[in-house]
Amino acid sequence: MAKLLIIGCGGVAQVAISKCCQNSDVFQEIMIASRTVSKCDAMKEKLQNKTKTVIKTAQIDADDVEALTKLIKDYAPDAVLNVALPYQDLTIMDACLAAGVDYIDTANYEPEDTDDPEWRKIYEKRCKDLGFSAYFDYSWQWAYEDKFKNAGLTALLGTGFDPGVTSVFAAYAKKHYFDEIHTIDILDCNGGDHGYPFATNFNPEINLREVSAPGSYMENGKWVEIPAMSIKREYDFDGVGKKDMYLLHHEEIEALGRNMPEVKRIRFFMTFGQSYLTHMNCLENVGMLSTTPINFNGQEIVPIQFLKALLPDPASLGPRTVGKTNIGCIFTGIKDGKERSIYIYNVCDHQECYKEVGSQAISYTTGVPAMIGSMMVVTGQWKQPGVFTTDEFDPDPYMEALNKWGLPWQVVENPVLVD
Ligand code: NDP
Repeated sequence: MAKLLIIGCGGVAQVAISKCCQNSDVFQEIMIASRTVSKCDAMKEKLQNKTKTVIKTAQIDADDVEALTKLIKDYAPDAVLNVALPYQDLTIMDACLAAGVDYIDTANYEPEDTDDPEWRKIYEKRCKDLGFSAYFDYSWQWAYEDKFKNAGLTALLGTGFDPGVTSVFAAYAKKHYFDEIHTIDILDCNGGDHGYPFATNFNPEINLREVSAPGSYMENGKWVEIPAMSIKREYDFDGVGKKDMYLLHHEEIEALGRNMPEVKRIRFFMTFGQSYLTHMNCLENVGMLSTTPINFNGQEIVPIQFLKALLPDPASLGPRTVGKTNIGCIFTGIKDGKERSIYIYNVCDHQECYKEVGSQAISYTTGVPAMIGSMMVVTGQWKQPGVFTTDEFDPDPYMEALNKWGLPWQVVENPVLVD
């Protein structure tokens, strides 16, 4: 039925590619295009005899809009799935517009060079106007609304697990369980153990930037910012047990805050072990998380990129990670005049994911929704001109697909709330 161009071939992409190949009825053909073409060829080699999906590969630098536009025009896919890095979001959106093709991604735009004076001017104004200081935000991609609308094209932003599935859970809760939602707490628990004192479960640069930034949440339509890791709670997660979790800034708060303005408070918590936090604090204190280039022995290096080269590749954690993840949302509000609270979540087992597709659960829980979001767009179920997040469409077919494609969810009434 459809042809999908997948950009990137890292941890998340490899799961999305494997899932597209399991879903050959929808994805008749895919092209894997990335910076390092040998990774794309290795994926093709691994999968081509086990699937009906026809796989092609190509080398591409997705920062090069002209070359990417040509590749899209030559291959003529129904949509482009961006599972490269958030740095490429805008160039890939530009190429999709130039080639007249729908766009899908899993993370909102942030610049690679946060010292770029032009970007910094806009960023500093946004920090002042809105009150949160994370490097990533939706304004850059929401600014493409008219361009996509006028071109009759769909851009689906952030179809990973969080953001992505968590926002679909919110739309589902709103549709089926509440007349009014008052609070949303998004809880992301990774109870997995990879045996290293310190490693990140997805791209280290993106992960450490996110986690070391100040936390923030939305209350009555306004951002409240707090020092990094300064709000801590303990929660007993189904399938995992008790874990410490910390309030972080996260992108779906921004989209849900805009699209569900009636919600009075939206927070995001993620679990971290003590070893992770101690290492991160130490690395931050010595300047290793900095994105500002320094000169070392006549060579310019960016500390966080050098650190990335030293850390284990997240794609290599699969065989050694054991335990489960539990990611979901607790909603409180009113139904038929009565107070109600529900918890919708998925539990995913690292080793089960590894057995199925050769990846740990963090890549799996992102790559499966990336395939599902792409399926929603190419089958026309979620196709509308403009730029959208996953809370803006009918959640039912997506929720059904989660059950079918490896991320079953459950709804619990009256869960323990987070204070
Ligand atoms: P990886 O670093 O493992 O993979 C990134 C891939 O993109 C690599 O194959 C890399 O190529 C390729 N790439 C980077 N720059 C370019 C470029 N200029 N042109 C072409 N290809 C390029 O990252 P992950 O797989 O961990 O993460 C992928 C995305 O998923 C990120 O945007 C991340 O933020 C997002 N994510 C979203 C989550 C969610 O729940 N919503 C959760 C986790 C991640 P090379 O092989 O040469 O390095």
